[in-house]
Amino acid sequence: MQVKEQEVIWLQGAGCTGCSVSLMNSVSPNIKNLLLDEIVPGKHINLLFHPTLMAGSGDLSIEVVLGEEKKTDYLLILEGAIPTAKGGIFATAGEEKGEPVTIHSHFKKLAERALAVVAVGTCASFGGIPAAKPNPTGSKSAQEVLDEENIKVPCINIPGCPPHPDWFVATVTYIMLNGLPPADKLDDLKRPTFIYGQLIHENCPRRAFFDEGKFAKNFGDEGCLYELGCKGPFTYADCPNRLWNGGINWVIGAGSPCLGCVEPIFPDTSGPFYKKISQWEKFKLPVKKES
Ligand code: SF4
Ligand code: SF4
Repeated sequence: MQVKEQEVIWLQGAGCTGCSVSLMNSVSPNIKNLLLDEIVPGKHINLLFHPTLMAGSGDLSIEVVLGEEKKTDYLLILEGAIPTAKGGIFATAGEEKGEPVTIHSHFKKLAERALAVVAVGTCASFGGIPAAKPNPTGSKSAQEVLDEENIKVPCINIPGCPPHPDWFVATVTYIMLNGLPPADKLDDLKRPTFIYGQLIHENCPRRAFFDEGKFAKNFGDEGCLYELGCKGPFTYADCPNRLWNGGINWVIGAGSPCLGCVEPIFPDTSGPFYKKISQWEKFKLPVKKES
C-alpha cells in the first residue's frame, strides 16, 4: 500500500520553544513514532521544516519551504506569536539578498497555499506572553494576521502554555483520518471541542471542596484552590482527565492552581496567577461552547 505523506511546515515566531519541547515529550506515540512511523495506517507526517528538530540548516533548509517548487496542501503549524512592529524584525528565519526575512512575511506567504493553519500554543492562538502589555513587538496571533491580510485559510487553535503533546497529536491525527474538523467540532475560539469542551472545574477532583466551601488558605492545605487563584472555573481543557507527563499528575493534583493558560485572557487578565479572582466580569463569561 502506498503511504500518503502529510507535509507539515512548522514556523517558530515569538515564543520560548516550549510547545516544541512539550511535543518532544509525547509519550504515546513518542516523537520518533510521530516523525518516522505511520501514526494513522497508510499515512505519514512529513515534517519539511522545523527549526528545532530538522537536521538541515542554512539556505537549503529555507529553500525546502520557500523554494521554486510551490507546494500546496501542507499543514502550516505556527508556534509563537507573530511580531509585526518595526517591520516584524523581532522574529526572522533565513535571509533574502542578505536581509533577514521575517516570520510575518514567511507566515503570510505560506498560509496562502496551506491546507490549514494550526496555531500551536497560546502565543500563536491568542498572542499569549509575547503580546502581553505593553507588547513592544506588536505580536499578534495567527488568526489576527490572517484576518488583516484577508487570507481565507482555515485556522485551528491548540492553545496551552505549553499545550499538552496529545492535543497536537490528536488534532493532526483527526485531520489525517477525517480531514479538517467541521465547525461543530470547534468552539467559538476555533479550539477542538474534543479537547477544550469542558471546564477544568467540571472535572476537578477538588470540586467537592468547592461545593462545600472548603478552601485552601495556603499551598499544601487540603481544599479547593480557588482562593489561591485557581482559574479552573472559566478554563476549558481536559487536563483533569488526561493528566500530564504520560498520565502521572497535573497542576491541581500537584497543589497549584490552574492558571487558565489555554484562554485568550492569559496572561494579562488571568494574572496575578496566585490571587483570587475578584472581578468576574472581566473574564467575559461564559464562553459559548458547541456540544
Ligand atoms: S481547585 Fe480550581 S478547578 Fe478545582 S474545584 Fe477548586 S476552583 Fe475548581
Ligand atoms: S491545568 Fe490549567 S494552567 Fe495547567 S495546563 Fe491545564 S489549562 Fe493550563
